[in-house]
Amino acid sequence: MNAPVHNHPAATQALIAKLGPEKVRTDEATCFAASFDNMRLSFMPEAVIRPGVEDDIGIILKLANEHRVPVTVRGRGTGNTGASSPIKGGWVIHLDHWDKIEIDPISAMATVQPGAITAKINDLAAPFGLFFPPDPSSLKYCSIGGNIATNAGGLRAAKYGVVRDHVYALEGFLPTGEKVRWAAPLRKFVSGINIRDLWIGSEGTLGIITKAVLKLVNKPLARRTFLLACRTDEGALDAAAELMGLRINPSVFEFLDTQTVEAAEKMRAKRVFSTEELKGNPATHAILLIEIDGHPAALAEDAAKVREWIGRHAVAFRETEIEIEAEALWDIRRTCSQAMYSLGNAKLNEDIVVPFKSYVALIRYTREVRDRTGLATPTFGHAADGNFHVHIMYNRDDAEHCRRAEKAIYEVMQKVVELGGAITGEHGIGIAKSPFLSLQHTPAEIKAMRAIKLALDPNGILAPGQIFEPLNVWDYRPVKVTLAWDKH
Ligand SMILES: Cc1cc2nc3c(=O)[nH]c(=O)nc-3n(C[C@H](O)[C@H](O)[C@H](O)COP(=O)(O)OP(=O)(O)OC[C@H]3O[C@@H](n4cnc5c(N)ncnc54)[C@H](O)[C@@H]3O)c2cc1C
Repeated sequence: MNAPVHNHPAATQALIAKLGPEKVRTDEATCFAASFDNMRLSFMPEAVIRPGVEDDIGIILKLANEHRVPVTVRGRGTGNTGASSPIKGGWVIHLDHWDKIEIDPISAMATVQPGAITAKINDLAAPFGLFFPPDPSSLKYCSIGGNIATNAGGLRAAKYGVVRDHVYALEGFLPTGEKVRWAAPLRKFVSGINIRDLWIGSEGTLGIITKAVLKLVNKPLARRTFLLACRTDEGALDAAAELMGLRINPSVFEFLDTQTVEAAEKMRAKRVFSTEELKGNPATHAILLIEIDGHPAALAEDAAKVREWIGRHAVAFRETEIEIEAEALWDIRRTCSQAMYSLGNAKLNEDIVVPFKSYVALIRYTREVRDRTGLATPTFGHAADGNFHVHIMYNRDDAEHCRRAEKAIYEVMQKVVELGGAITGEHGIGIAKSPFLSLQHTPAEIKAMRAIKLALDPNGILAPGQIFEPLNVWDYRPVKVTLAWDKH
């Protein structure tokens, strides 16, 4: 935990006087809980504010500008990049209690407050035959405000798109404290410059979202799940590219490399595929998990194409359209993240993207890094859109491990950009990836981003230090805490 810099006691007192002590907390326990996200680097704020009404946000921001107090917005703190950590101290605005959700089944829209938990939107939309497709693995814990601010993706992004594809309108406050509305609850809106889309994915640096109108889509009537084993990583990735060429449009298409499968199988009571199924060769194998969904008639046609394709590429496979059996097929994907801790007590979890033509080059590079550094590099991810989670497993208490991991991750990022890819596809930059921003973007591009930030936030009070100031995260030690999602 890094001590707070109490530079703004007069401003905090003025805020308490305006909003009341029940909305502005300065006790250590509250401040600590709001000082880190899933990255677990703690930076203590001076106060945590839970606004009562929307106008409170205008009051907070106006005072913050007057006294130059840093302000960071917090959803539910599941972010992986430290983006909701108040790295310059100041105030945290915590919006987890603003969680109303209203479904309009006729226009297929949901009007939500930012603290609403993503999974709950689906719970309420389901009775109308609707759903909100973006499904980050954290959907039972994260907020829609955080999803919009990071332009979150998920398992079904390849077919249904990411959060940006499902936002009609946003309401909120500029960093200077004025209330704004970007677009409206309409299917079409092209009036003026589209700042709604600038806010999406801006990681809480350009404004505070207080309401969003989301696009819902029809829930598919049926789904079919396939799980298959391929002999090698390269074999699985070549097969993945071929499947995409068959125009099947899978709603889920996950790849687990041989390192990931090996770690996950060790943790499971029973192997997914038996030695007999693997044709007497229980050696390492990669796994592909596929789901197709839609109308049952169309599904039958696509399923036939998938089976033919499986025949050309898999050593073993399973298939089901029964919900409970599908859950069993998902089990290895759900457990693989935790299973990796058998390979090191800490992990770097990246969310890079590469084009189809570079899949094999990427996976070969991760193995090259493993062989060179002695650190495991299990990789899994979304084979339909090239968004892979490359991990580097290391021992946090071993200085040599940390040195190797730090160097290796920089090299992985360089390689990703060289392969025509992106350093992040869903988690964002925050502080975690700030040292890599200049690998991805030219000075002119970064200057343009900074100019937009300056135009909307002239005093630089909102999320200062995020994205643009490279921070060496290795100078800080993560706090040891158990978070709600750790066992899931
Ligand atoms: C187990 C696990 C699995 C995950 N899987 C995925 C995944 O599959 N896909 C994916 O994309 N991410 C994933 N994540 C990362 C994380 O869940 C997402 O980034 C999520 O969108 C963050 O939501 P949150 O409410 O926790 O936001 P926070 O972590 O609190 O904040 C994230 C960012 O949003 C900003 N923000 C929050 N609320 C507002 C607001 N009202 N107005 C303006 N800015 C705001 C914050 O300032 C910060 O910059 C995963 C995380 C975990 C722990």
